[in-house]
Amino acid sequence: MNREDFIILDQKIYDRHLVYFDNAATTQKPEVVLNAMSDYYRTINSNIHRGAHYLSQRATDRFEQARQRIQAFINAVYSHEVIFTRGTTESINLVASSFGKAFLFPGDEVIISGMEHHSNIVPWQLICEEKGAKIKVIPFDERGALDVEKFEPLITDKTKIVAITHVSNSLGTINPVKQIIDIAHSHGIPVMLDGAQAISHIRVDVQALDCDFYCFSGHKMYGPMGIGVMYGKEKWLEKMPPYQGGGEMIKTVTLEKSTYADLPFKFEAGTPSVGDVIGLEKAIEYIENIGLAKIAAYEEELLRYGVEKLSEIEDLDFVGTAPHKAAIISFNLKGIHPYDAGVIIDRIGVAVRTGHHCTQPVMDIFCIPGTIRASFALYNEKSEIDRLVEAVRKVKTMFK
Ligand code: PMP
Repeated sequence: MNREDFIILDQKIYDRHLVYFDNAATTQKPEVVLNAMSDYYRTINSNIHRGAHYLSQRATDRFEQARQRIQAFINAVYSHEVIFTRGTTESINLVASSFGKAFLFPGDEVIISGMEHHSNIVPWQLICEEKGAKIKVIPFDERGALDVEKFEPLITDKTKIVAITHVSNSLGTINPVKQIIDIAHSHGIPVMLDGAQAISHIRVDVQALDCDFYCFSGHKMYGPMGIGVMYGKEKWLEKMPPYQGGGEMIKTVTLEKSTYADLPFKFEAGTPSVGDVIGLEKAIEYIENIGLAKIAAYEEELLRYGVEKLSEIEDLDFVGTAPHKAAIISFNLKGIHPYDAGVIIDRIGVAVRTGHHCTQPVMDIFCIPGTIRASFALYNEKSEIDRLVEAVRKVKTMFK
């Protein structure tokens, strides 16, 4: 649907029409997003919050209006709970570092899951190393479904935070995050969700979920790269120290001591990426105009079709077959390295991703070097899945 909005898709690669199935890595951007950003730079570009001049006022208004749109999109109580970052990675680093500084002490524990992206492992390892805390892991089963039964027994009076992914980027699993949050909260433990793969596919209502933090990137939801959001409940953000120091985040500065600005600015040091924030706002408007429910239903149809067609291929093993899945299909071909397959599939003009997808621990559990991953977005079509199937069959013939 709406394919014509994405001009980049209208091109030939190696003499074949481009099929873009690397949407879990980044989605393409519709014209309205590109235009909104170029309009910003052409008409009102200026630094925000500081200048009393006209352009600065206009840019500031647009920036804060974008914050409000994001607040409404995720149903946050306050717009100051929406903190702009460079993306999910920076958002998680912010939570780990700042929450960790305030609340982690030697012997404390952080719970993550076994299917986390490296972005939701390494920041916790860094802060745990600094604070003498340790990480515990919720396992998943052979289908890639989280073993929720094993979660509660991991909790002790030393557990300070749970940080898990809403949707796995390598397995496609949609995790039962509400259940995890309810269990964690019954022990008084806050929960951070990595929403990088969920935000453009699932309606996220942070109040209904009651999550304490929610992190996502603009570039995986038809918006620009270099912009993301860290949502945090006011009660936590008020108690957490700044993540970075600099301009914008202060109230007063002397050479001896500084005091910090109120939320959200306390966490937004330096000049923000205003053009990207405006692009992200447009991307959200774009998604809302089509309707997330409609997008989700369409992607579900693509997933079903993709699984059905790929299942017809002999010696193809799916990696990640949990009952609740987003439109991500990971698979391997018996006896063929995913990288070798990826090179041939690319030559047929189909962009898939091969490798460990920044989830090496997941690959270790399945004892595989990586997978071939096709991930769908609203502009993909069933005929493109047929092209993927054709490409996979070609790989098999070449390696026979
Ligand atoms: N978490 C998950 C589940 C992801 O899929 C990704 C991106 N692949 C990230 C975190 C990191 O996102 P970014 O690179 O946009 O910071």
